[in-house]
Amino acid sequence: KMKKISMPRSAETIINKLYENGFEAYIVGGCVRDSLLGRKPDDFDITTNALPEDVKLIFTKTVDTGIAHGTVTVIENEDVYEVTTYRIDGEYRDNRHPISVAYTGKLEDDLARRDFTVNALAYNDKVGLVDAFSGTQDLKSRIIRCVGDPQKRFAEDALRVLRGVRFSSVLGFEIEEKTSDAIRIFAPNLKDISAERIFTEWKKLLSGNSAYDVIKNYKEVINVFLPTLDFFNLPKREAFEPLAWDERQILLFALSSGVEGFASSAKKLKMDSKTRDTGISVLNNLTLSEKASDIDLRIYLIGKDDEIARKCAKISFAMGIIEKSTYERINEMLDNDVLRHVNQLAVKGNDITDLGIKGKEVGEALNEILRLAVTGEIENSKNSIIAYLKEKRNSK
Ligand code: ATP
Ligand code: MG
Repeated sequence: KMKKISMPRSAETIINKLYENGFEAYIVGGCVRDSLLGRKPDDFDITTNALPEDVKLIFTKTVDTGIAHGTVTVIENEDVYEVTTYRIDGEYRDNRHPISVAYTGKLEDDLARRDFTVNALAYNDKVGLVDAFSGTQDLKSRIIRCVGDPQKRFAEDALRVLRGVRFSSVLGFEIEEKTSDAIRIFAPNLKDISAERIFTEWKKLLSGNSAYDVIKNYKEVINVFLPTLDFFNLPKREAFEPLAWDERQILLFALSSGVEGFASSAKKLKMDSKTRDTGISVLNNLTLSEKASDIDLRIYLIGKDDEIARKCAKISFAMGIIEKSTYERINEMLDNDVLRHVNQLAVKGNDITDLGIKGKEVGEALNEILRLAVTGEIENSKNSIIAYLKEKRNSK
């Protein structure tokens, strides 16, 4: 009996058109793996024995994005697919790129160049599942295993080292022993992989449900691209797991090389500016203390961006710096839009200048009032603020 895998209508259309023109075609790789696991695939790739020039003749809307390695982008019904000709990779150079690619008429040859058995699966409705390397068996046993000799495969392309641990983290699969040994041996070659590729994989790894175990077991792999993480102080699992990927990353640095280690890693991995700036702000603001009173918390929140404040609270709690109740109080204060920004004051800049205060003294006065209003020393009303400022000026 044949198991049917569902695919988007437009992927089906592309495959059917290729058959109508005398070729074969399959969905292949991660989309087949994820479908069999009941996970939603994020993209559907198509593999075919049609040559790129055939593909371009058959479809009206195509883009030559990866034509050098046999990939034509086909736009069908506004959906975008990568259609790649069955291919055998030649010798590899620089631990990453094949010197040449050769087309082949045999699907099995194409599957053989793929990294892991669970990624070497192809499917279409006519033929069913093509599994030349026992990928379905490994899916059942939840194992990441190289197609072919692991050392050879990682020597060809070091990115596979990180993809292997990333899949282990995301899918919660164990890594087969020979594959795992080879990952440790070839990890140093990750030095030749571009920062962008590394960061993309590292983010996915960090998001995975099994990230905690994978990080713990493959420290030396992660240390190749994040040398300032010493992993001397690993967080507790219960602290790490509820966090989002970016918070998990911040926590690892908070327990190790701190804001300086993080800043240098952000540069090295070419992290996007949002991730970098958020990380730096949070690490610079992990200043809450165990015995923080309500007033301390309100003072802490003065001038802070909500997102940064919430992350700081979450990570401080994860690190055991503050108690759960404190963490909850901070969130409650933010939910209730507690007074913490100058623009929440009952006076505006011109109310201050009307009193004859000028220049940079306006900002200073607003900040002073904010602090007094936050601590409850004056009321946040126009009358009491003006009265305070007048009295202050008279007493000068
Ligand atoms: P994701 O869920 O992140 O998309 P994926 O397995 O689909 O994971 P892609 O980068 O989309 O990964 O690649 C699609 C397929 O191409 C893979 O499933 C695998 O068969 C093959 N592949 C990708 N990168 C490599 C590589 N570095 N070496 C060998 N095969 C690869
Ligand atoms: Mg994919």
